[in-house]
Amino acid sequence: MHELAIVESIMETLLEQLEINNCSRILTIKLEFGAMTAVMPAAIDFAFEALSKGGPAEGAKIETTIIPIKAVCIDCGAKSTLDDYVPFCPKCHDGVLQIIQGRDEMRIASIEIQ
Ligand SMILES: [Zn+2]
Repeated sequence: MHELAIVESIMETLLEQLEINNCSRILTIKLEFGAMTAVMPAAIDFAFEALSKGGPAEGAKIETTIIPIKAVCIDCGAKSTLDDYVPFCPKCHDGVLQIIQGRDEMRIASIEIQ
């Protein structure tokens, strides 16, 4: 479960933001992950609950969005949105796909603090 390590690093950023903005509580956190990171929102929630206990982020609302995989075919130029990663183009079945979205994104889209 790599979600625990991810949440640990997110938590560090959150605490930094609190200090910078002179705030004491985190209300809402919006997170975005590329589908190919295989991050599971339920595991993020679980890790967050465990790590935020007793701290300024306890009870904060987490909204996790999974960014779908989008790819463009190097051969035919077709753009595809994929549910699961496939190495070859679903249009021409031959061309190699270049992933343009949904790969390794891991970001905090927004934080609401008080
Ligand atoms: Zn193609």
